[in-house]
Amino acid sequence: AHSLWREGNVVVSPHKTVEIPDSTLAQHVWANLDRWPQRTALVCGITCRQYTYEQAYQMSRNFAANLRKKFRLRDDDTVALVLPNLPEYPLALLGASEAGCVVTTVNPMYTAHEVQHSFKISNPKLVVTTADNFNVVKKAMELNKTDAPIIMIKQSNESPPRGAASFEELAKDNSVDKSILKEVKRISGDVCILPYSSGTTGLPKAVELTHRNIVANCIQQTEGVRLYEDTTANSQDTVLVVLPMFHSFGLGMLTLHKMSVGVRLVTLPKFNPKTYLDSLLKYKVNILVMAPPTVLFLGTSSEVRADHFEHVHRSMSGAAPLPQADIQRLFEKANRELNFVQGYGLTETSPLATLMFLGSKNYESSGYAIPNVELKIINSELQALGPNETGELLIRGPNVMRGYKDNPESNREAFLDGRWLRTGDLATINEAGEVTITDRLKELIKVKGFQVAPAELEAVLKEHLDVLDAAVVGVKDDTFGEVPKAFVVARHDRKLDSKKILDFVAERVAPYKKINEIVYIDSIPKNPSGKILRRLLKEK
Ligand code: AMP
Repeated sequence: AHSLWREGNVVVSPHKTVEIPDSTLAQHVWANLDRWPQRTALVCGITCRQYTYEQAYQMSRNFAANLRKKFRLRDDDTVALVLPNLPEYPLALLGASEAGCVVTTVNPMYTAHEVQHSFKISNPKLVVTTADNFNVVKKAMELNKTDAPIIMIKQSNESPPRGAASFEELAKDNSVDKSILKEVKRISGDVCILPYSSGTTGLPKAVELTHRNIVANCIQQTEGVRLYEDTTANSQDTVLVVLPMFHSFGLGMLTLHKMSVGVRLVTLPKFNPKTYLDSLLKYKVNILVMAPPTVLFLGTSSEVRADHFEHVHRSMSGAAPLPQADIQRLFEKANRELNFVQGYGLTETSPLATLMFLGSKNYESSGYAIPNVELKIINSELQALGPNETGELLIRGPNVMRGYKDNPESNREAFLDGRWLRTGDLATINEAGEVTITDRLKELIKVKGFQVAPAELEAVLKEHLDVLDAAVVGVKDDTFGEVPKAFVVARHDRKLDSKKILDFVAERVAPYKKINEIVYIDSIPKNPSGKILRRLLKEK
Protein backbone atom coordinates (compact mmCIF):
# COMPACT_ATOMS: atom_id res chain seq x y z
CA ALA A 1 0.00 0.00 0.00
CA HIS A 2 1.18 3.52 -0.76
CA SER A 3 1.82 5.77 2.18
CA LEU A 4 -0.65 8.60 2.65
CA TRP A 5 2.06 10.75 4.22
CA ARG A 6 3.37 13.45 1.87
CA GLU A 7 6.00 16.12 1.96
CA GLY A 8 5.59 18.59 4.84
CA ASN A 9 3.79 15.91 6.86
CA VAL A 10 0.58 16.42 4.91
CA VAL A 11 -1.66 13.35 5.07
CA VAL A 12 -3.86 12.73 2.05
CA SER A 13 -7.02 10.70 1.49
CA PRO A 14 -6.80 7.02 0.49
CA HIS A 15 -9.73 7.65 -1.84
CA LYS A 16 -9.55 8.73 -5.47
CA THR A 17 -9.84 12.47 -5.98
CA VAL A 18 -13.37 13.35 -7.04
CA GLU A 19 -14.65 15.98 -9.43
CA ILE A 20 -16.81 18.64 -7.76
CA PRO A 21 -19.30 20.09 -10.26
CA ASP A 22 -20.15 23.80 -10.24
CA SER A 23 -23.75 23.12 -9.22
CA THR A 24 -25.85 24.90 -6.66
CA LEU A 25 -27.17 22.90 -3.74
CA ALA A 26 -30.68 22.58 -5.20
CA GLN A 27 -29.33 21.51 -8.60
CA HIS A 28 -27.27 18.84 -6.91
CA VAL A 29 -29.99 17.47 -4.64
CA TRP A 30 -32.48 17.24 -7.51
CA ALA A 31 -29.97 16.07 -10.13
CA ASN A 32 -31.20 12.47 -9.99
CA LEU A 33 -34.87 13.24 -9.57
CA ASP A 34 -35.82 11.44 -12.78
CA ARG A 35 -34.38 8.19 -11.39
CA TRP A 36 -36.78 8.07 -8.43
CA PRO A 37 -39.69 10.54 -8.75
CA GLN A 38 -42.20 8.17 -7.15
CA ARG A 39 -40.06 7.13 -4.23
CA THR A 40 -40.96 8.47 -0.82
CA ALA A 41 -38.53 11.24 0.05
CA LEU A 42 -39.76 12.31 3.49
CA VAL A 43 -42.10 10.92 6.13
CA CYS A 44 -43.08 12.45 9.44
CA GLY A 45 -42.51 9.77 12.07
CA ILE A 46 -45.28 11.28 14.22
CA THR A 47 -48.13 12.11 11.82
CA CYS A 48 -47.06 9.80 8.94
CA ARG A 49 -47.58 12.58 6.36
CA GLN A 50 -45.22 11.99 3.48
CA TYR A 51 -43.97 13.33 0.17
CA THR A 52 -42.52 11.60 -2.86
CA TYR A 53 -39.36 13.00 -4.44
CA GLU A 54 -41.46 14.52 -7.22
CA GLN A 55 -43.83 16.18 -4.73
CA ALA A 56 -40.92 17.40 -2.63
CA TYR A 57 -39.34 18.96 -5.69
CA GLN A 58 -42.56 20.65 -6.84
CA MET A 59 -43.30 21.98 -3.35
CA SER A 60 -39.86 23.45 -2.91
CA ARG A 61 -40.09 25.10 -6.36
CA ASN A 62 -43.51 26.58 -5.61
CA PHE A 63 -42.18 27.86 -2.32
CA ALA A 64 -39.14 29.35 -4.07
CA ALA A 65 -41.26 31.15 -6.67
CA ASN A 66 -43.56 32.50 -3.97
CA LEU A 67 -40.64 33.80 -1.91
CA ARG A 68 -39.55 35.89 -4.90
CA LYS A 69 -43.01 36.95 -6.03
CA LYS A 70 -45.09 37.42 -2.87
CA PHE A 71 -42.35 38.15 -0.37
CA ARG A 72 -40.08 39.98 -2.81
CA LEU A 73 -36.97 38.20 -1.58
CA ARG A 74 -33.82 38.74 -3.59
CA ASP A 75 -30.47 37.02 -4.13
CA ASP A 76 -28.43 36.90 -0.94
CA ASP A 77 -31.34 37.76 1.41
CA THR A 78 -31.25 35.57 4.48
CA VAL A 79 -34.10 33.22 5.40
CA ALA A 80 -34.05 31.82 8.94
CA LEU A 81 -35.41 28.35 9.70
CA VAL A 82 -36.34 28.01 13.38
CA LEU A 83 -37.69 24.49 13.11
CA PRO A 84 -37.55 21.03 14.62
CA ASN A 85 -37.09 18.09 12.23
CA LEU A 86 -40.12 17.98 9.98
CA PRO A 87 -40.54 16.60 6.45
CA GLU A 88 -41.03 20.17 5.24
CA TYR A 89 -37.70 21.34 6.68
CA PRO A 90 -35.57 20.44 3.64
CA LEU A 91 -38.32 21.65 1.29
CA ALA A 92 -38.24 25.10 2.91
CA LEU A 93 -34.44 25.05 2.87
CA LEU A 94 -34.07 23.97 -0.76
CA GLY A 95 -36.88 26.32 -1.80
CA ALA A 96 -35.29 29.33 -0.11
CA SER A 97 -31.97 28.34 -1.61
CA GLU A 98 -33.45 28.05 -5.07
CA ALA A 99 -34.96 31.51 -4.58
CA GLY A 100 -31.35 32.73 -4.27
CA CYS A 101 -31.48 33.17 -0.49
CA VAL A 102 -28.96 32.21 2.15
CA VAL A 103 -30.52 29.89 4.74
CA THR A 104 -29.63 30.19 8.38
CA THR A 105 -30.50 27.21 10.58
CA VAL A 106 -31.45 28.20 14.13
CA ASN A 107 -31.92 25.80 17.04
CA PRO A 108 -35.67 25.55 17.85
CA MET A 109 -34.86 24.87 21.50
CA TYR A 110 -33.39 28.35 21.80
CA THR A 111 -34.83 31.00 24.06
CA ALA A 112 -35.66 34.46 22.65
CA HIS A 113 -32.35 35.64 24.09
CA GLU A 114 -30.39 33.08 22.03
CA VAL A 115 -32.45 33.52 18.84
CA GLN A 116 -31.85 37.25 19.15
CA HIS A 117 -28.08 36.65 19.01
CA SER A 118 -28.43 34.43 15.92
CA PHE A 119 -30.67 36.94 14.17
CA LYS A 120 -28.35 39.79 14.98
CA ILE A 121 -25.52 38.16 13.04
CA SER A 122 -27.60 36.70 10.21
CA ASN A 123 -30.22 39.46 9.81
CA PRO A 124 -33.06 37.36 8.32
CA LYS A 125 -35.50 38.94 5.87
CA LEU A 126 -38.01 36.14 6.50
CA VAL A 127 -38.46 33.43 9.12
CA VAL A 128 -39.95 29.95 8.75
CA THR A 129 -41.05 28.42 12.06
CA THR A 130 -43.76 26.44 13.87
CA ALA A 131 -46.59 27.59 16.17
CA ASP A 132 -44.51 26.39 19.14
CA ASN A 133 -41.66 28.75 18.30
CA PHE A 134 -43.72 31.65 17.01
CA ASN A 135 -43.61 33.73 20.21
CA VAL A 136 -39.88 33.20 20.69
CA VAL A 137 -39.24 34.35 17.12
CA LYS A 138 -41.46 37.41 17.58
CA LYS A 139 -39.76 38.27 20.86
CA ALA A 140 -36.28 37.87 19.37
CA MET A 141 -37.17 40.30 16.60
CA GLU A 142 -38.63 42.76 19.12
CA LEU A 143 -35.41 42.60 21.14
CA ASN A 144 -33.45 43.38 17.98
CA LYS A 145 -35.99 46.07 16.97
CA THR A 146 -36.43 44.37 13.62
CA ASP A 147 -39.33 42.74 11.89
CA ALA A 148 -39.68 40.17 9.14
CA PRO A 149 -42.56 38.15 7.73
CA ILE A 150 -43.12 34.75 9.35
CA ILE A 151 -44.15 31.58 7.55
CA MET A 152 -45.44 28.72 9.63
CA ILE A 153 -45.12 24.99 9.08
CA LYS A 154 -47.85 22.94 10.72
CA GLN A 155 -46.58 20.09 12.89
CA SER A 156 -50.01 18.47 13.03
CA ASN A 157 -53.44 20.11 13.28
CA GLU A 158 -52.66 23.28 15.18
CA SER A 159 -54.00 26.51 13.68
CA PRO A 160 -51.52 29.13 12.52
CA PRO A 161 -50.88 32.09 14.84
CA ARG A 162 -52.21 35.42 13.59
CA GLY A 163 -49.80 37.14 11.31
CA ALA A 164 -48.11 34.02 9.98
CA ALA A 165 -48.45 32.79 6.40
CA SER A 166 -48.92 29.07 5.75
CA PHE A 167 -46.00 27.12 4.29
CA GLU A 168 -48.41 24.47 3.06
CA GLU A 169 -50.40 26.96 1.01
CA LEU A 170 -47.29 28.54 -0.50
CA ALA A 171 -45.74 25.17 -1.32
CA LYS A 172 -48.92 23.79 -2.88
CA ASP A 173 -49.70 26.97 -4.81
CA ASN A 174 -48.43 26.33 -8.31
CA SER A 175 -50.09 29.40 -9.79
CA VAL A 176 -46.87 31.43 -9.60
CA ASP A 177 -44.90 31.38 -12.81
CA LYS A 178 -41.64 29.51 -12.12
CA SER A 179 -39.86 31.57 -14.75
CA ILE A 180 -39.41 34.18 -12.00
CA LEU A 181 -36.65 31.87 -10.73
CA LYS A 182 -34.64 32.65 -13.85
CA GLU A 183 -33.79 35.98 -12.19
CA VAL A 184 -31.78 34.10 -9.57
CA LYS A 185 -28.05 34.38 -10.13
CA ARG A 186 -26.23 32.01 -7.84
CA ILE A 187 -22.84 30.51 -8.45
CA SER A 188 -21.28 27.66 -6.54
CA GLY A 189 -18.90 29.96 -4.63
CA ASP A 190 -21.83 31.91 -3.12
CA VAL A 191 -22.84 31.39 0.48
CA CYS A 192 -25.66 28.85 0.78
CA ILE A 193 -26.15 27.90 4.44
CA LEU A 194 -25.31 29.71 7.67
CA PRO A 195 -25.27 27.37 10.65
CA TYR A 196 -23.70 28.49 13.94
CA SER A 197 -20.53 27.43 15.69
CA SER A 198 -18.35 29.02 18.32
CA GLY A 199 -15.24 27.64 16.59
CA THR A 200 -12.20 27.48 18.82
CA THR A 201 -13.13 30.40 21.06
CA GLY A 202 -15.77 32.97 21.96
CA LEU A 203 -19.44 33.31 21.14
CA PRO A 204 -21.36 31.39 18.44
CA LYS A 205 -20.60 32.74 14.97
CA ALA A 206 -22.40 32.25 11.65
CA VAL A 207 -20.47 29.76 9.51
CA GLU A 208 -20.51 30.57 5.80
CA LEU A 209 -20.92 27.33 3.89
CA THR A 210 -21.00 27.86 0.15
CA HIS A 211 -22.97 25.81 -2.37
CA ARG A 212 -19.66 24.30 -3.38
CA ASN A 213 -18.83 23.33 0.22
CA ILE A 214 -22.06 21.40 0.65
CA VAL A 215 -22.17 19.86 -2.82
CA ALA A 216 -18.55 18.77 -2.28
CA ASN A 217 -19.38 17.12 1.03
CA CYS A 218 -22.33 15.26 -0.54
CA ILE A 219 -20.07 13.90 -3.29
CA GLN A 220 -17.27 13.14 -0.83
CA GLN A 221 -19.74 11.04 1.16
CA THR A 222 -21.04 9.24 -1.91
CA GLU A 223 -17.62 8.54 -3.38
CA GLY A 224 -15.78 8.11 -0.09
CA VAL A 225 -17.45 5.66 2.19
CA ARG A 226 -20.95 4.86 1.12
CA LEU A 227 -23.16 4.94 4.16
CA TYR A 228 -26.05 3.61 2.11
CA GLU A 229 -26.55 0.70 -0.20
CA ASP A 230 -26.49 1.35 -3.92
CA THR A 231 -30.08 2.15 -4.43
CA THR A 232 -31.76 0.40 -7.32
CA ALA A 233 -35.26 0.83 -8.68
CA ASN A 234 -36.79 -1.65 -6.28
CA SER A 235 -34.85 -1.11 -3.12
CA GLN A 236 -34.61 2.06 -1.12
CA ASP A 237 -32.74 2.62 2.10
CA THR A 238 -34.42 4.31 5.03
CA VAL A 239 -32.75 6.54 7.57
CA LEU A 240 -34.21 7.94 10.78
CA VAL A 241 -33.55 11.66 11.15
CA VAL A 242 -33.61 12.50 14.82
CA LEU A 243 -30.26 14.30 14.98
CA PRO A 244 -31.34 17.90 14.51
CA MET A 245 -31.45 19.30 11.00
CA PHE A 246 -30.33 22.72 12.23
CA HIS A 247 -26.94 21.21 13.12
CA SER A 248 -24.50 20.47 10.32
CA PHE A 249 -24.28 16.75 11.17
CA GLY A 250 -28.04 16.20 10.81
CA LEU A 251 -28.23 18.59 7.87
CA GLY A 252 -25.21 17.66 5.77
CA MET A 253 -24.97 13.93 6.48
CA LEU A 254 -28.52 12.90 7.17
CA THR A 255 -30.67 15.24 5.18
CA LEU A 256 -29.01 16.80 2.15
CA HIS A 257 -26.65 13.97 1.26
CA LYS A 258 -29.26 11.27 1.80
CA MET A 259 -31.79 13.15 -0.36
CA SER A 260 -29.21 13.49 -3.12
CA VAL A 261 -28.97 9.69 -3.30
CA GLY A 262 -32.69 8.92 -3.07
CA VAL A 263 -32.87 7.56 0.48
CA ARG A 264 -36.17 7.71 2.43
CA LEU A 265 -35.95 10.07 5.40
CA VAL A 266 -38.17 9.50 8.43
CA THR A 267 -38.15 12.66 10.52
CA LEU A 268 -38.66 12.87 14.28
CA PRO A 269 -39.00 16.32 15.85
CA LYS A 270 -37.39 15.21 19.10
CA PHE A 271 -35.86 12.16 20.69
CA ASN A 272 -38.39 10.05 22.53
CA PRO A 273 -37.23 6.48 23.32
CA LYS A 274 -40.49 4.79 22.46
CA THR A 275 -41.14 6.67 19.22
CA TYR A 276 -37.53 6.17 18.18
CA LEU A 277 -37.63 2.41 18.73
CA ASP A 278 -41.10 2.00 17.22
CA SER A 279 -39.92 3.89 14.13
CA LEU A 280 -36.91 1.56 13.69
CA LEU A 281 -39.34 -1.32 13.30
CA LYS A 282 -42.22 0.41 11.55
CA TYR A 283 -40.04 1.92 8.83
CA LYS A 284 -37.49 -0.92 8.68
CA VAL A 285 -34.63 1.52 9.21
CA ASN A 286 -31.37 0.50 7.44
CA ILE A 287 -28.99 3.31 8.29
CA LEU A 288 -28.29 4.49 11.82
CA VAL A 289 -26.54 7.84 12.02
CA MET A 290 -25.95 8.58 15.67
CA ALA A 291 -24.29 10.83 18.18
CA PRO A 292 -22.74 9.07 21.21
CA PRO A 293 -25.82 9.51 23.50
CA THR A 294 -27.91 7.48 21.01
CA VAL A 295 -25.28 4.72 20.98
CA LEU A 296 -25.40 4.71 24.79
CA PHE A 297 -29.21 4.59 24.79
CA LEU A 298 -29.36 1.72 22.27
CA GLY A 299 -26.73 -0.23 24.16
CA THR A 300 -28.18 0.15 27.63
CA SER A 301 -31.93 0.78 27.60
CA SER A 302 -34.05 -2.20 28.69
CA GLU A 303 -36.59 -1.43 25.98
CA VAL A 304 -34.08 -2.13 23.21
CA ARG A 305 -34.12 -5.61 21.64
CA ALA A 306 -32.15 -7.33 18.90
CA ASP A 307 -35.05 -7.11 16.44
CA HIS A 308 -34.84 -3.31 16.50
CA PHE A 309 -31.64 -3.72 14.48
CA GLU A 310 -33.02 -6.33 12.11
CA HIS A 311 -32.85 -4.12 9.02
CA VAL A 312 -29.76 -2.09 9.93
CA HIS A 313 -26.89 -2.59 7.47
CA ARG A 314 -24.88 0.59 8.07
CA SER A 315 -24.28 2.57 11.23
CA MET A 316 -22.06 5.41 12.31
CA SER A 317 -21.43 7.78 15.17
CA GLY A 318 -19.90 11.24 15.16
CA ALA A 319 -20.15 14.71 16.75
CA ALA A 320 -18.41 13.81 20.05
CA PRO A 321 -16.01 11.23 21.53
CA LEU A 322 -17.46 7.73 21.68
CA PRO A 323 -16.58 5.50 24.66
CA GLN A 324 -15.50 2.09 23.33
CA ALA A 325 -17.57 0.24 25.95
CA ASP A 326 -20.72 1.80 24.51
CA ILE A 327 -20.07 0.30 21.09
CA GLN A 328 -19.61 -3.16 22.59
CA ARG A 329 -22.89 -2.80 24.49
CA LEU A 330 -24.61 -1.77 21.29
CA PHE A 331 -23.34 -4.89 19.52
CA GLU A 332 -24.44 -7.07 22.43
CA LYS A 333 -27.96 -5.65 22.22
CA ALA A 334 -28.03 -6.18 18.47
CA ASN A 335 -26.73 -9.72 18.91
CA ARG A 336 -24.20 -9.06 16.18
CA GLU A 337 -21.37 -6.74 15.30
CA LEU A 338 -23.15 -4.03 13.33
CA ASN A 339 -21.46 -2.62 10.27
CA PHE A 340 -20.25 0.36 12.26
CA VAL A 341 -17.82 3.22 11.66
CA GLN A 342 -16.86 6.39 13.42
CA GLY A 343 -16.70 9.69 11.60
CA TYR A 344 -15.37 13.08 12.52
CA GLY A 345 -16.13 16.56 11.36
CA LEU A 346 -17.16 20.06 12.26
CA THR A 347 -19.81 22.54 11.27
CA GLU A 348 -16.91 24.34 9.57
CA THR A 349 -16.26 21.31 7.29
CA SER A 350 -19.87 20.89 6.06
CA PRO A 351 -19.55 18.61 8.25
CA LEU A 352 -17.72 15.37 7.39
CA ALA A 353 -13.89 15.35 7.26
CA THR A 354 -12.81 11.82 8.14
CA LEU A 355 -14.51 8.43 8.17
CA MET A 356 -13.37 4.88 8.80
CA PHE A 357 -13.71 2.27 6.04
CA LEU A 358 -16.85 0.19 6.37
CA GLY A 359 -16.01 -3.29 7.52
CA SER A 360 -12.96 -2.17 9.46
CA LYS A 361 -13.25 -3.31 13.05
CA ASN A 362 -11.31 -0.37 14.36
CA TYR A 363 -13.96 1.57 16.24
CA GLU A 364 -11.63 3.85 18.17
CA SER A 365 -10.26 5.70 15.19
CA SER A 366 -12.21 8.29 13.23
CA GLY A 367 -10.75 6.87 10.03
CA TYR A 368 -9.20 8.50 7.01
CA ALA A 369 -9.52 11.80 5.22
CA ILE A 370 -12.51 11.62 2.88
CA PRO A 371 -11.82 12.31 -0.84
CA ASN A 372 -10.11 15.65 -1.62
CA VAL A 373 -9.37 16.30 2.06
CA GLU A 374 -5.85 16.82 3.41
CA LEU A 375 -4.83 16.68 7.06
CA LYS A 376 -1.93 17.88 9.12
CA ILE A 377 -1.00 17.71 12.81
CA ILE A 378 0.86 20.66 14.33
CA ASN A 379 2.44 21.45 17.68
CA SER A 380 1.99 24.68 19.62
CA GLU A 381 4.82 26.27 17.58
CA LEU A 382 2.77 25.49 14.45
CA GLN A 383 5.33 22.93 13.22
CA ALA A 384 3.97 19.93 11.34
CA LEU A 385 4.31 16.64 13.24
CA GLY A 386 4.86 13.11 12.04
CA PRO A 387 3.08 9.76 12.53
CA ASN A 388 1.74 9.00 16.05
CA GLU A 389 2.62 12.43 17.40
CA THR A 390 -0.15 14.31 19.19
CA GLY A 391 -1.03 17.85 18.19
CA GLU A 392 -3.73 20.07 16.75
CA LEU A 393 -5.50 18.70 13.68
CA LEU A 394 -5.67 20.93 10.59
CA ILE A 395 -8.00 20.32 7.65
CA ARG A 396 -7.95 21.52 4.06
CA GLY A 397 -10.45 20.68 1.35
CA PRO A 398 -13.39 21.82 -0.79
CA ASN A 399 -15.78 21.28 2.14
CA VAL A 400 -14.00 23.76 4.42
CA MET A 401 -16.12 26.85 5.11
CA ARG A 402 -15.47 30.16 3.42
CA GLY A 403 -15.23 31.73 6.87
CA TYR A 404 -17.22 33.18 9.75
CA LYS A 405 -19.64 35.84 8.56
CA ASP A 406 -18.48 39.43 9.10
CA ASN A 407 -15.79 38.35 11.49
CA PRO A 408 -12.28 39.05 10.14
CA GLU A 409 -10.68 38.56 13.55
CA SER A 410 -12.08 35.04 14.00
CA ASN A 411 -11.16 34.24 10.42
CA ARG A 412 -7.57 35.25 11.01
CA GLU A 413 -7.47 32.86 13.95
CA ALA A 414 -9.32 30.05 12.19
CA PHE A 415 -6.96 29.62 9.23
CA LEU A 416 -3.23 29.11 8.86
CA ASP A 417 -1.25 29.79 5.67
CA GLY A 418 -2.64 27.92 2.70
CA ARG A 419 -6.22 27.91 4.06
CA TRP A 420 -5.62 25.19 6.61
CA LEU A 421 -8.52 25.18 9.06
CA ARG A 422 -7.56 24.92 12.72
CA THR A 423 -9.96 22.44 14.33
CA GLY A 424 -9.00 23.05 17.95
CA ASP A 425 -8.99 19.27 18.38
CA LEU A 426 -6.03 17.22 19.54
CA ALA A 427 -5.37 14.18 17.40
CA THR A 428 -2.80 11.70 16.18
CA ILE A 429 -2.44 10.18 12.74
CA ASN A 430 -0.70 6.82 12.47
CA GLU A 431 1.60 5.57 9.68
CA ALA A 432 -1.40 4.20 7.83
CA GLY A 433 -3.10 7.61 7.83
CA GLU A 434 -5.78 6.80 10.42
CA VAL A 435 -6.91 9.67 12.61
CA THR A 436 -7.67 9.33 16.30
CA ILE A 437 -9.13 12.29 18.14
CA THR A 438 -7.58 12.33 21.59
CA ASP A 439 -8.82 15.49 23.26
CA ARG A 440 -10.24 18.95 22.67
CA LEU A 441 -7.90 21.90 22.81
CA LYS A 442 -10.59 24.52 22.22
CA GLU A 443 -12.86 25.72 24.99
CA LEU A 444 -16.03 24.35 23.34
CA ILE A 445 -18.16 22.04 25.50
CA LYS A 446 -20.22 19.31 23.84
CA VAL A 447 -23.36 18.22 25.67
CA LYS A 448 -25.05 15.25 23.94
CA GLY A 449 -23.14 16.30 20.81
CA PHE A 450 -24.56 19.86 20.95
CA GLN A 451 -22.27 22.85 21.11
CA VAL A 452 -22.17 24.84 24.31
CA ALA A 453 -19.89 27.88 24.16
CA PRO A 454 -18.42 28.72 27.58
CA ALA A 455 -18.18 32.40 26.57
CA GLU A 456 -21.94 32.49 26.11
CA LEU A 457 -22.67 31.07 29.57
CA GLU A 458 -20.05 33.35 31.12
CA ALA A 459 -21.76 36.37 29.55
CA VAL A 460 -25.14 35.26 30.94
CA LEU A 461 -23.67 34.68 34.42
CA LYS A 462 -22.10 38.12 34.39
CA GLU A 463 -25.50 39.68 33.65
CA HIS A 464 -26.51 38.58 37.16
CA LEU A 465 -26.10 41.46 39.59
CA ASP A 466 -24.46 39.33 42.29
CA VAL A 467 -21.78 37.97 39.95
CA LEU A 468 -18.49 39.81 39.51
CA ASP A 469 -16.70 37.30 37.28
CA ALA A 470 -17.30 33.81 35.94
CA ALA A 471 -15.68 31.00 33.99
CA VAL A 472 -17.30 27.89 32.56
CA VAL A 473 -15.63 24.59 31.65
CA GLY A 474 -16.90 21.18 30.59
CA VAL A 475 -16.64 18.21 32.93
CA LYS A 476 -17.05 14.56 31.90
CA ASP A 477 -20.48 13.02 32.26
CA ASP A 478 -21.45 9.40 31.58
CA THR A 479 -24.81 10.24 30.02
CA PHE A 480 -24.24 13.54 28.25
CA GLY A 481 -20.53 13.25 27.41
CA GLU A 482 -19.84 16.58 29.11
CA VAL A 483 -21.79 19.08 31.21
CA PRO A 484 -21.02 22.75 31.97
CA LYS A 485 -19.57 23.63 35.36
CA ALA A 486 -19.28 27.26 36.47
CA PHE A 487 -16.71 29.00 38.63
CA VAL A 488 -18.18 32.20 40.01
CA VAL A 489 -16.74 35.16 41.86
CA ALA A 490 -19.27 37.07 43.98
CA ARG A 491 -19.59 40.82 43.81
CA HIS A 492 -18.29 42.48 46.94
CA ASP A 493 -20.63 42.03 49.91
CA ARG A 494 -23.08 39.83 48.05
CA LYS A 495 -24.03 36.43 49.28
CA LEU A 496 -24.62 34.11 46.35
CA ASP A 497 -27.63 31.82 46.13
CA SER A 498 -26.76 28.93 43.79
CA LYS A 499 -30.34 28.02 43.02
CA LYS A 500 -31.18 31.59 42.05
CA ILE A 501 -28.17 31.79 39.76
CA LEU A 502 -28.86 28.43 38.14
CA ASP A 503 -32.48 29.46 37.54
CA PHE A 504 -31.33 32.80 36.15
CA VAL A 505 -29.16 31.01 33.58
CA ALA A 506 -31.78 28.32 32.81
CA GLU A 507 -34.34 30.99 31.89
CA ARG A 508 -32.00 32.44 29.31
CA VAL A 509 -30.55 29.39 27.54
CA ALA A 510 -31.71 26.18 25.83
CA PRO A 511 -32.21 23.25 28.27
CA TYR A 512 -29.04 21.35 27.28
CA LYS A 513 -26.87 24.39 28.11
CA LYS A 514 -27.97 24.47 31.73
CA ILE A 515 -25.11 24.75 34.21
CA ASN A 516 -24.73 21.58 36.22
CA GLU A 517 -22.70 22.83 39.12
CA ILE A 518 -21.45 26.11 40.57
CA VAL A 519 -18.25 26.52 42.54
CA TYR A 520 -17.41 29.81 44.26
CA ILE A 521 -13.87 31.08 44.08
CA ASP A 522 -12.07 34.31 44.97
CA SER A 523 -10.81 35.07 41.49
CA ILE A 524 -10.76 33.48 38.03
CA PRO A 525 -7.23 32.38 37.06
CA LYS A 526 -6.18 34.25 33.91
CA ASN A 527 -3.00 34.72 31.93
CA PRO A 528 -1.43 38.20 31.66
CA SER A 529 -3.51 39.02 28.57
CA GLY A 530 -6.74 38.16 30.40
CA LYS A 531 -7.43 34.73 28.89
CA ILE A 532 -9.11 32.34 31.30
CA LEU A 533 -6.83 29.44 32.26
CA ARG A 534 -9.43 26.75 31.67
CA ARG A 535 -7.09 23.80 32.07
CA LEU A 536 -6.34 24.93 35.59
CA LEU A 537 -10.03 25.15 36.42
CA LYS A 538 -10.70 21.75 34.87
CA GLU A 539 -8.12 20.20 37.13
CA LYS A 540 -9.77 21.70 40.24
P1 AMP B 1 -19.78 20.69 15.56
O1 AMP B 1 -19.29 21.87 14.83
O2 AMP B 1 -20.91 21.00 16.49
O3 AMP B 1 -20.09 19.56 14.66
O4 AMP B 1 -18.61 20.24 16.53
C1 AMP B 1 -17.38 19.81 16.02
C2 AMP B 1 -16.56 19.23 17.13
O5 AMP B 1 -17.15 18.04 17.64
C3 AMP B 1 -15.19 18.79 16.70
O6 AMP B 1 -14.29 19.87 16.61
C4 AMP B 1 -14.82 17.83 17.81
O7 AMP B 1 -14.38 18.49 18.97
C5 AMP B 1 -16.15 17.15 18.10
N1 AMP B 1 -16.25 15.87 17.36
C6 AMP B 1 -16.89 15.63 16.20
N2 AMP B 1 -16.75 14.33 15.84
C7 AMP B 1 -16.00 13.73 16.79
C8 AMP B 1 -15.50 12.40 16.98
N3 AMP B 1 -15.77 11.41 16.14
N4 AMP B 1 -14.74 12.17 18.09
C9 AMP B 1 -14.46 13.16 18.97
N5 AMP B 1 -14.91 14.42 18.84
C10 AMP B 1 -15.67 14.71 17.76
